[in-house]
Amino acid sequence: MPKDIKKYIFIVGGVMSGVGKGVATASIGRILQSRGFEVTALKIDPYVNVDAGTMNPTEHGEVFVLNDGTECDQDMGNYERLLDRDLTGENYMTTGSIYLSVINKERNLEYGGKCVEVVPHIPLEVISRIDKALVKNKAEIAITEIGGTVGEYQNILFLEAIRMLKLKKSDDVVLVLVSHLPSLSDGSELKTKPTQYAVRTLNSAGLQPDIIIARASVPLDKKRKNKIAFNCNIKEQDVISAPDVNNIYEVPVNFEKDDLSLNILEKLKLKPKTRDLKKWRQLANLVNTTKKTVEIGIVGKYFGTGNFILTDSYISVIEAIKHAAYFYKANPVIEWIDAEEFEKNPAKLKGLSKYRGIVIPGGFGSRGVEGKISAIKYLRLNKIPFLGLCYGMQLATIEYSRSVAGLKGAHTTEVNPETPYPVIDILPEQKKHLADKNYGATMRLGAYPAAIKKGTIAYSAYKEPLISERHRHRYEVNPEYIEKLEKKGLVFSGFSPNRRLMEIIELPKEKHPFFVASQFHPELKSRPFKPHPLFREFINTALKK
Ligand code: GLN
Repeated sequence: MPKDIKKYIFIVGGVMSGVGKGVATASIGRILQSRGFEVTALKIDPYVNVDAGTMNPTEHGEVFVLNDGTECDQDMGNYERLLDRDLTGENYMTTGSIYLSVINKERNLEYGGKCVEVVPHIPLEVISRIDKALVKNKAEIAITEIGGTVGEYQNILFLEAIRMLKLKKSDDVVLVLVSHLPSLSDGSELKTKPTQYAVRTLNSAGLQPDIIIARASVPLDKKRKNKIAFNCNIKEQDVISAPDVNNIYEVPVNFEKDDLSLNILEKLKLKPKTRDLKKWRQLANLVNTTKKTVEIGIVGKYFGTGNFILTDSYISVIEAIKHAAYFYKANPVIEWIDAEEFEKNPAKLKGLSKYRGIVIPGGFGSRGVEGKISAIKYLRLNKIPFLGLCYGMQLATIEYSRSVAGLKGAHTTEVNPETPYPVIDILPEQKKHLADKNYGATMRLGAYPAAIKKGTIAYSAYKEPLISERHRHRYEVNPEYIEKLEKKGLVFSGFSPNRRLMEIIELPKEKHPFFVASQFHPELKSRPFKPHPLFREFINTALKK
């Protein structure tokens, strides 16, 4: 493999956001990998926030966490899942993080006393970050997605970075516009005008797209392709049809119907080495044909503005459930259950019995907490498969303390600092951060090792004594209560190697078919063809219910 390959693909959005630019980015990465290239993917968010950790999930979707502890946009999760690569902090930047490093460099005299200007120094910093990501990820092609849409005032400097790079290395840069073709609700023709305007906007930033991915509810007909090509000044074969799909894992397969990988490689002056999308075709086929289903409920609270927000707030959990279900050749049927409903009307708890399994995911603060705790009690008593994630594990510990260990009023100090039994308490190093109001990137973040106890459900899932999982939390099981809870039958099946931090709790198989919860976030490491061991065992048990 020639060592010196260094190519750049940029993905920008036109017309409107939310048309699947992140999935398009990841899928382009996947099809180029299938041609034998080492690919990495980056996301640039136009926010001033330095990272995604302080943003509300109902507004911005899930906060994804990388091994190195970087808190980032949920698109990074799509990249990791589709590329099957662990990414690094170099792969994520925001306007805030770029300005922060330019300002820090300037303060350290790294610009040698020159006048530091928005142009060129900000775009140059963006380019140097992409180069760093290429090196760090040992990749030959970097695909960089620019958040938002062209024409937004706030991403103009990123377009400028593309322009500067294209000017210098025209054979090494491909610009892809992901656009949207609306149609009126009467099913009339797809409209191309908004795409034409988006291209004009790019033109005014000194850029011309090389490829247009046309998202629409249906595949593009010849006439529409022709119209876009003519009006947007590109060849017809450079207009790629991207119709709605049932499942994001179909997108790479769909792109190849228009030979997108060969097209991009030709523009980058690269020759394909292999062709390997068979697994993906099989997966797409399985999802579309299998009749087997597994009904899973997610008890959550980030409901905000309805279904869309919901899927965004818990996207990695949903994907992890899918991966595990596909492993057993089943399609998951996922339903949302608002934890607060159980507080208003406890009779609704009975509704949990209709699911084959329930996931209680992570969360913060007090809203919905008592509802989740009563749901956990119901699942424990009625032997319904339960998987708790982070807050889900903390609340399961509280429920067990209250109901089985006789610790009435037990709680987490996050919700009730005055509780007589603080079974979940703040990590010592976190106390100072909170006192100093130092909230950004200060949680226990990223990958930490954990030891797994033999003879437990966790061990039979992982089949290894030492694992590494990603974290994002401030609180933990209070070590003072571990012995007491163990005596009352709660099993701590995973813990930090020094046994100070509890990582997994479970109930023995004789008592419950699957009652397992983890302090870490297993959903962040699940991949389409490598379902996470805990999700896999959870779905396996759920399918038997
Ligand atoms: N709020 C809890 C904590 O900070 C759980 C966090 C989470 O679920 N990610 O420890």
